[in-house]
Amino acid sequence: MEIHNFSAGPCILPPEVMQEASQAVLDFNGMGLSLIEISHRSKEFVAVMEEARSLVKSLLGLPERFDVLFLQGGASLGFLTAAYNFLPEGGAAAYVDTGTWANKAIKEAKHAGTAHVIGSSKATNYDRIPSLDAVPSGSAYLHYTSNNTIFGTQFAAAPASSVPLIADMSSDIFSRTFDPEAYQLIYAGAQKNMGPAGTVMYAFDRDAIGKTGRTIPSYLDLAVHASKDSMFNTPPVFPIYVSMLTMRWMQSMGGVQAMELRNERKANLIYQEIDRNGLFEGHATVDSRSTMNATFRLKDEAHAAAFDGLWKGAGINGLKGHRSVGGYRASMYNALPETSVQVLVDVMQELERTH
Ligand SMILES: *Cc1c(COP(=O)(O)O)cnc(C)c1O
Repeated sequence: MEIHNFSAGPCILPPEVMQEASQAVLDFNGMGLSLIEISHRSKEFVAVMEEARSLVKSLLGLPERFDVLFLQGGASLGFLTAAYNFLPEGGAAAYVDTGTWANKAIKEAKHAGTAHVIGSSKATNYDRIPSLDAVPSGSAYLHYTSNNTIFGTQFAAAPASSVPLIADMSSDIFSRTFDPEAYQLIYAGAQKNMGPAGTVMYAFDRDAIGKTGRTIPSYLDLAVHASKDSMFNTPPVFPIYVSMLTMRWMQSMGGVQAMELRNERKANLIYQEIDRNGLFEGHATVDSRSTMNATFRLKDEAHAAAFDGLWKGAGINGLKGHRSVGGYRASMYNALPETSVQVLVDVMQELERTH
């Protein structure tokens, strides 16, 4: 039976990518060696790293002043790396509190300086993108989480800001087009739209680093990594290789613009059903809905056993909501086909017919 993978992360990747990646584990580029047993300094792997870095630039249309790195530590270390490299010693930055990941970013920023929270939707269990206060003067940047994976909310557009932006785009990178001009740093863990867990992508303005007045430990220093072309230490070769393949796949599909159209179709399909079907209700308010993660629940928990039986029976995997929201979460990353969303919609209609 075909499996429909709605997992929130790690999550679905294109089948073509899986095929090519598994081949490379056995025999990479006809070398008679596995990708994971050759030197990361071999010309074959350096070519992978360089293609991955350059695909990020072309897919996102980054201005020339941007550098791209693939490091370790996940987005969770990115929270600290962002603050260490862009928050001046004794300084402050503005943050938006839109949920679990945003909170972790705020917590890490406090290791480097003051974090002014200029908007929060905590009071309504993060069911919306809050309205924002003005960025306090003296703030170095405004940090936000573009898509809130757990609560199913997403900024419709970058927040208006008088200072440069920093964004954690872990769960919606490459899912829609945006203007990179206003950003100092964009970072994203690989395991949602890019590849396997184990690497995090940093795209940043090289002219904006080195200005904090702080001594930065080597691994946290983006300048150190940039000076070594993302090879300061042994990079996570397999996640970077698979990320590169996924980016090639996106490019062959028509790039981020094509992904955006596909994602809008999928999101419309599920949200129309959530709104139409009397048995369900969404978690996120309509204007804050995410195209990547749709959070919803049954109005009457008494139908849970029947619904769970139906979706599991249809081959759907990974639909259970995060414990902080409950209910269900349909994660519809780039690689999820529209037909999988249709299977979920059919199951929701089947529940309505029978209950
Ligand atoms: C998954 C996720 C993270 C955490 O990423 P790790 O790589 O596990 O550290 C951070 N931010 C967002 C928005 C996420 O979706």
